[in-house]
Amino acid sequence: MPKNTLGEHLRQQGMSRRSFLKFCSLLASGMALSPALVPRIAQALEATRRPSVIWLSFQECTGCTESLTRSHTPTVEGLIFDAISLDYHHTLQAASGHAAEAAREEAMKENFGQYILVVDGSIPLDNPGFSTIAGISNLDMLKETAKGAAAIVAVGTCAAFGGLPKANPNPTGAVPVSDIITDKPIINVSGCPPIPVVITGVLAHILTFGGLPELDDLGRPAAFYGQSIHDRCYRRPFYEKGLFAETFDDEGAKKGWCLYKLGCKGPVTFNACATTKWNEGTSFPIESGHGCIGCSEPDFWDFGGFYEALSRPTGQTGKNAVYGVAAGTAVGAAVWAMNRAKKEEAVRGHEKLTMDELNREGEES
Ligand code: SF4
Repeated sequence: MPKNTLGEHLRQQGMSRRSFLKFCSLLASGMALSPALVPRIAQALEATRRPSVIWLSFQECTGCTESLTRSHTPTVEGLIFDAISLDYHHTLQAASGHAAEAAREEAMKENFGQYILVVDGSIPLDNPGFSTIAGISNLDMLKETAKGAAAIVAVGTCAAFGGLPKANPNPTGAVPVSDIITDKPIINVSGCPPIPVVITGVLAHILTFGGLPELDDLGRPAAFYGQSIHDRCYRRPFYEKGLFAETFDDEGAKKGWCLYKLGCKGPVTFNACATTKWNEGTSFPIESGHGCIGCSEPDFWDFGGFYEALSRPTGQTGKNAVYGVAAGTAVGAAVWAMNRAKKEEAVRGHEKLTMDELNREGEES
């Protein structure tokens, strides 16, 4: 672990006190913390020793790293070079071959018990040879590297829940990190890809408070995954009035009406897209005219076609909501966003609507 504190490091880099406090304000807002906590964050961060981070990429598309390198709050440059010591990253590191593996081994040895392990991608269990790095299977590399980790951040839906590689028929026997590592704290930062500021916010929380943020029942940081997209969607007033786009180019679509009938999964998807947005806070899929596909939920790829509408809620919204897919899709597929117990409860209590009924409701309202 680097010997100097973060405060010393930042001063060496020429960062002024004013800029540092601005940086802390950005962290507080990214972590959904009160501005009143900024001085405490500043104090904690200044005193912390920069932790070593090892980042492993398994069965993934590099979208998670792409997402991180588009981060704006705090900047990835600030995070990587000023806040953490990224000792090993398959995509971003300059070293390759034996030198890269030597860097990983050295970081593990020097910082045993203290480094943060970030993982993106799922792990194939059917045949370890499906995915190897430097001749080491993903399974062995994960087990070996996790041994000395203080905490693991599973970045992206593949690492958190298996993601796309786990979609039917799951040809590689893909599993998430939490299926293999059971004796370390794991934070799931789901999304395909995850929101950049959520990745950096979680790392900043660990840096600031030396522990994990509050997690939801799927192991995700509650500050970012506590509410559904639907709860925070700017199109929600149209949903409440029953004003829905019926096609992607009709008058309703042009007027920015709700995308519910076009398959939006916002009501059963928990993430912060509607507030943090993407591309430096420019927009998010719903603002660009496409419904939410539910990518931060387990098994999102397998259940409920992207353009099939959910049936209307039976009374509640948010985490206790009960939804079904209209137009005859299996009810069990409708509630994929919830954990198993909630799914079973939802299937029992489900009120199923046909697309005709849904359309009639829209016309009547
Ligand atoms: S259904 Fe989708 S578009 Fe409509 S209000 Fe909810 S999240 Fe927004």
